Amino acid sequence: MDTLQKLASIFERFPGIGPRQAGRFVQHLLKTSPAIRRELAEAIQQLSRAVSQCSDCQRFHEGEKGACKRCATTRDRTLVMVVASDADADAMERSRTYSGTYFILGGTVTLGAQDQPHLRDRELLALLKHRAGETEEVILAFPANPEGDATAAHARGVIEEVYPTLPIHMLGRGLSTGSELEYADAETLRYALENRA
Ligand SMILES: [Zn+2]
Repeated sequence: MDTLQKLASIFERFPGIGPRQAGRFVQHLLKTSPAIRRELAEAIQQLSRAVSQCSDCQRFHEGEKGACKRCATTRDRTLVMVVASDADADAMERSRTYSGTYFILGGTVTLGAQDQPHLRDRELLALLKHRAGETEEVILAFPANPEGDATAAHARGVIEEVYPTLPIHMLGRGLSTGSELEYADAETLRYALENRA
Protein backbone atom coordinates (compact mmCIF):
# COMPACT_ATOMS: atom_id res chain seq x y z
CA MET A 1 0.00 0.00 0.00
CA ASP A 2 1.47 3.37 -0.90
CA THR A 3 1.75 6.30 1.50
CA LEU A 4 -1.38 8.11 0.31
CA GLN A 5 -3.50 4.96 0.43
CA LYS A 6 -2.20 4.08 3.85
CA LEU A 7 -3.10 7.47 5.30
CA ALA A 8 -6.53 7.41 3.66
CA SER A 9 -7.22 3.97 5.10
CA ILE A 10 -6.34 5.28 8.58
CA PHE A 11 -8.82 8.17 8.22
CA GLU A 12 -11.46 5.72 7.01
CA ARG A 13 -11.39 4.04 10.40
CA PHE A 14 -12.57 7.27 12.06
CA PRO A 15 -16.25 7.33 13.09
CA GLY A 16 -18.50 8.60 10.33
CA ILE A 17 -15.72 8.92 7.74
CA GLY A 18 -16.11 7.22 4.36
CA PRO A 19 -13.55 6.70 1.58
CA ARG A 20 -14.35 10.00 -0.15
CA GLN A 21 -13.91 12.10 2.98
CA ALA A 22 -10.75 10.17 3.88
CA GLY A 23 -9.35 11.01 0.47
CA ARG A 24 -10.22 14.68 0.96
CA PHE A 25 -8.38 14.75 4.30
CA VAL A 26 -5.27 13.39 2.60
CA GLN A 27 -5.55 15.99 -0.18
CA HIS A 28 -5.96 18.70 2.44
CA LEU A 29 -2.82 17.57 4.26
CA LEU A 30 -0.88 17.54 0.99
CA LYS A 31 -1.77 21.21 0.52
CA THR A 32 -0.84 22.30 4.05
CA SER A 33 2.66 23.35 5.03
CA PRO A 34 5.17 20.86 6.45
CA ALA A 35 5.06 22.84 9.73
CA ILE A 36 1.34 22.22 10.13
CA ARG A 37 1.74 18.54 9.28
CA ARG A 38 4.44 18.30 11.94
CA GLU A 39 2.19 20.04 14.46
CA LEU A 40 -0.57 17.51 13.77
CA ALA A 41 1.79 14.54 14.06
CA GLU A 42 3.17 15.88 17.35
CA ALA A 43 -0.30 16.54 18.78
CA ILE A 44 -1.23 12.93 18.03
CA GLN A 45 1.96 11.61 19.63
CA GLN A 46 1.31 13.80 22.65
CA LEU A 47 -1.92 11.85 23.25
CA SER A 48 0.04 8.82 24.42
CA ARG A 49 2.50 10.86 26.40
CA ALA A 50 0.20 13.29 28.22
CA VAL A 51 -3.20 11.61 28.37
CA SER A 52 -4.03 8.64 30.54
CA GLN A 53 -7.20 6.78 31.35
CA CYS A 54 -8.62 7.09 34.85
CA SER A 55 -8.38 3.86 36.82
CA ASP A 56 -11.78 4.56 38.42
CA CYS A 57 -14.17 6.31 36.01
CA GLN A 58 -12.19 5.34 32.83
CA ARG A 59 -12.31 8.83 31.34
CA PHE A 60 -9.33 10.18 29.46
CA HIS A 61 -7.55 12.94 31.34
CA GLU A 62 -4.34 14.88 31.23
CA GLY A 63 -2.38 13.67 34.17
CA GLU A 64 -0.58 10.81 35.77
CA LYS A 65 -1.81 7.25 35.65
CA GLY A 66 -4.26 6.34 38.41
CA ALA A 67 -7.42 8.17 39.38
CA CYS A 68 -8.31 11.43 37.58
CA LYS A 69 -8.74 14.69 39.49
CA ARG A 70 -12.52 14.31 39.44
CA CYS A 71 -12.35 10.88 41.11
CA ALA A 72 -9.55 11.84 43.49
CA THR A 73 -11.38 14.89 44.89
CA THR A 74 -13.97 14.67 47.61
CA ARG A 75 -17.17 13.48 46.07
CA ASP A 76 -20.21 11.59 47.22
CA ARG A 77 -18.86 8.07 46.86
CA THR A 78 -22.19 6.46 47.73
CA LEU A 79 -23.32 7.25 44.15
CA VAL A 80 -21.95 5.85 40.89
CA MET A 81 -23.47 7.25 37.70
CA VAL A 82 -22.85 5.06 34.65
CA VAL A 83 -22.76 7.05 31.40
CA ALA A 84 -21.91 6.15 27.81
CA SER A 85 -19.17 8.68 27.05
CA ASP A 86 -16.71 11.19 28.46
CA ALA A 87 -18.85 13.92 26.87
CA ASP A 88 -21.95 12.77 28.80
CA ALA A 89 -20.09 12.89 32.12
CA ASP A 90 -18.74 16.33 31.21
CA ALA A 91 -22.29 17.56 30.44
CA MET A 92 -23.49 16.30 33.82
CA GLU A 93 -20.55 18.07 35.51
CA ARG A 94 -21.34 21.34 33.73
CA SER A 95 -24.93 21.18 34.95
CA ARG A 96 -23.66 21.25 38.57
CA THR A 97 -26.54 19.04 39.68
CA TYR A 98 -24.61 15.93 40.64
CA SER A 99 -21.91 15.44 43.24
CA GLY A 100 -21.42 11.65 43.04
CA THR A 101 -18.87 9.67 41.08
CA TYR A 102 -18.99 8.45 37.47
CA PHE A 103 -18.21 5.41 35.43
CA ILE A 104 -17.86 5.73 31.65
CA LEU A 105 -19.01 2.58 29.90
CA GLY A 106 -17.36 3.49 26.61
CA GLY A 107 -20.40 3.58 24.33
CA THR A 108 -23.88 2.19 23.90
CA VAL A 109 -25.07 -1.29 22.98
CA THR A 110 -24.90 -2.24 19.30
CA LEU A 111 -28.50 -3.34 18.63
CA GLY A 112 -28.79 -6.84 17.25
CA ALA A 113 -25.27 -7.89 18.26
CA GLN A 114 -24.72 -10.85 20.57
CA ASP A 115 -21.60 -9.54 22.28
CA GLN A 116 -20.73 -5.98 23.23
CA PRO A 117 -16.93 -6.17 23.46
CA HIS A 118 -16.53 -2.38 23.22
CA LEU A 119 -18.28 -1.84 26.57
CA ARG A 120 -16.26 -1.75 29.80
CA ASP A 121 -18.30 -4.33 31.72
CA ARG A 122 -15.25 -5.81 33.42
CA GLU A 123 -13.97 -2.40 34.51
CA LEU A 124 -17.42 -1.51 35.87
CA LEU A 125 -17.46 -4.63 38.06
CA ALA A 126 -13.87 -3.94 39.13
CA LEU A 127 -14.87 -0.43 40.25
CA LEU A 128 -17.85 -1.71 42.24
CA LYS A 129 -15.61 -4.29 43.86
CA HIS A 130 -12.99 -1.66 44.64
CA ARG A 131 -15.73 0.52 46.18
CA ALA A 132 -17.36 -2.33 48.09
CA GLY A 133 -19.11 -0.97 51.16
CA GLU A 134 -19.12 2.58 49.72
CA THR A 135 -21.56 2.36 46.82
CA GLU A 136 -25.20 2.67 47.88
CA GLU A 137 -26.78 3.41 44.51
CA VAL A 138 -25.98 3.09 40.82
CA ILE A 139 -27.61 5.58 38.45
CA LEU A 140 -27.87 4.55 34.80
CA ALA A 141 -27.76 7.67 32.63
CA PHE A 142 -28.04 6.79 28.96
CA PRO A 143 -29.60 8.55 25.98
CA ALA A 144 -33.40 8.36 25.68
CA ASN A 145 -33.38 6.21 22.54
CA PRO A 146 -33.46 2.46 21.72
CA GLU A 147 -29.65 2.11 22.04
CA GLY A 148 -29.75 3.92 25.38
CA ASP A 149 -32.55 1.71 26.69
CA ALA A 150 -30.74 -1.44 25.55
CA THR A 151 -27.54 -0.18 27.19
CA ALA A 152 -29.36 0.42 30.48
CA ALA A 153 -30.76 -3.13 30.37
CA HIS A 154 -27.30 -4.47 29.54
CA ALA A 155 -25.58 -2.58 32.39
CA ARG A 156 -28.31 -3.59 34.83
CA GLY A 157 -27.80 -7.25 33.90
CA VAL A 158 -24.03 -7.02 34.33
CA ILE A 159 -24.36 -5.40 37.77
CA GLU A 160 -27.24 -7.52 39.08
CA GLU A 161 -25.44 -10.74 38.26
CA VAL A 162 -22.76 -9.89 40.83
CA TYR A 163 -24.57 -7.39 43.10
CA PRO A 164 -28.21 -8.52 43.12
CA THR A 165 -29.21 -6.25 46.04
CA LEU A 166 -27.50 -3.03 44.94
CA PRO A 167 -30.15 -0.36 44.16
CA ILE A 168 -30.04 0.64 40.48
CA HIS A 169 -32.02 3.63 39.19
CA MET A 170 -32.49 5.26 35.82
CA LEU A 171 -32.67 8.96 35.02
CA GLY A 172 -36.24 10.26 34.89
CA ARG A 173 -37.76 10.88 31.50
CA GLY A 174 -37.34 14.65 31.58
CA LEU A 175 -34.99 14.02 28.71
CA SER A 176 -37.06 14.21 25.56
CA THR A 177 -37.11 11.08 23.43
CA GLY A 178 -33.97 10.63 21.39
CA SER A 179 -32.03 13.31 23.23
CA GLU A 180 -28.43 12.83 24.16
CA LEU A 181 -27.19 13.75 27.63
CA GLU A 182 -24.35 15.62 26.02
CA TYR A 183 -26.73 18.21 24.54
CA ALA A 184 -29.22 18.45 27.39
CA ASP A 185 -29.35 21.69 29.38
CA ALA A 186 -28.67 21.89 33.12
CA GLU A 187 -32.36 22.24 34.05
CA THR A 188 -33.30 19.10 32.11
CA LEU A 189 -30.47 17.13 33.68
CA ARG A 190 -31.46 18.30 37.16
CA TYR A 191 -35.07 17.25 36.55
CA ALA A 192 -33.97 13.87 35.18
CA LEU A 193 -31.68 13.29 38.16
CA GLU A 194 -34.28 14.30 40.76
CA ASN A 195 -36.86 12.08 39.11
CA ARG A 196 -34.73 8.99 38.82
CA ALA A 197 -36.61 5.77 39.42
ZN1 LIG B 1 -11.90 9.38 37.12
